Amino acid sequence: MATVKDFSVEEKLASVIKLQKIDSKRDGIQILKGELPIEVSDLEDEIEGLHARQNRIEEEINGMQQFIEQKKLVIKESNDLVKKYEKQSDNVKNNREFEAINKEMEMQTLEVKLAEKHIKDATDEIGEKAKALEIAKKAVSTKETNLKGKKGELEKIIAETDKEEKQYNKLANAAREHVDERLMMSYDRIRKNYRNGLAVVPVERDSCGGCFNAIPPQKQSEIKQRKKIIVCENCGRILVDDELNNAVEVK
Ligand SMILES: [Zn+2]
Repeated sequence: MATVKDFSVEEKLASVIKLQKIDSKRDGIQILKGELPIEVSDLEDEIEGLHARQNRIEEEINGMQQFIEQKKLVIKESNDLVKKYEKQSDNVKNNREFEAINKEMEMQTLEVKLAEKHIKDATDEIGEKAKALEIAKKAVSTKETNLKGKKGELEKIIAETDKEEKQYNKLANAAREHVDERLMMSYDRIRKNYRNGLAVVPVERDSCGGCFNAIPPQKQSEIKQRKKIIVCENCGRILVDDELNNAVEVK
């Protein structure tokens, strides 16, 4: 079996044209998916962030509710003490004792007021947090609807193109094996440099099919001879003649 090295320039060019055509089909599928894969993963990240925010707010609200329960206990204990002192004050023996009990009662009443103030502040804060939580929940639900739509679109495209894509991937791998190593390297490098992914282009209307730079007649006839690999002086793409380009078919 002949190795790639033994192939003529024309055969090498035909191989790389074939690879280009397959890769262009693969590019077409990616274009169809467009920004969807990025949009889907961005939305997933945002939703995760919003869920974390939601959890944080819920934990804060829980903490405050516990705080309120503690303060309610304080109030109950103080009220119980006040009742106890009230009973004691019925049996006081002297003024000093009466004043001492009164002072204790005053202190407990202050405790109750302070605890009530704490409860009110915490309740207000819970109200604020509940609003923030509501906003976060709405944001999640909007984003989830959005994500569902985008995912659906993407899945539809994938379902329609998956078979094709796998087939072209297989064809591309097979085609790469038939391309001369040096040609392969420049092909990959050029393809990476251009957004349209074209590394091999035909001469069309006396110009480079990639950058539309005019190709002099002398050079055009060299290209048609297929004796050496010729690149565009302006964009570096591999130039092939129209006829050879059209002769290579990819199903
Ligand atoms: Zn060019």
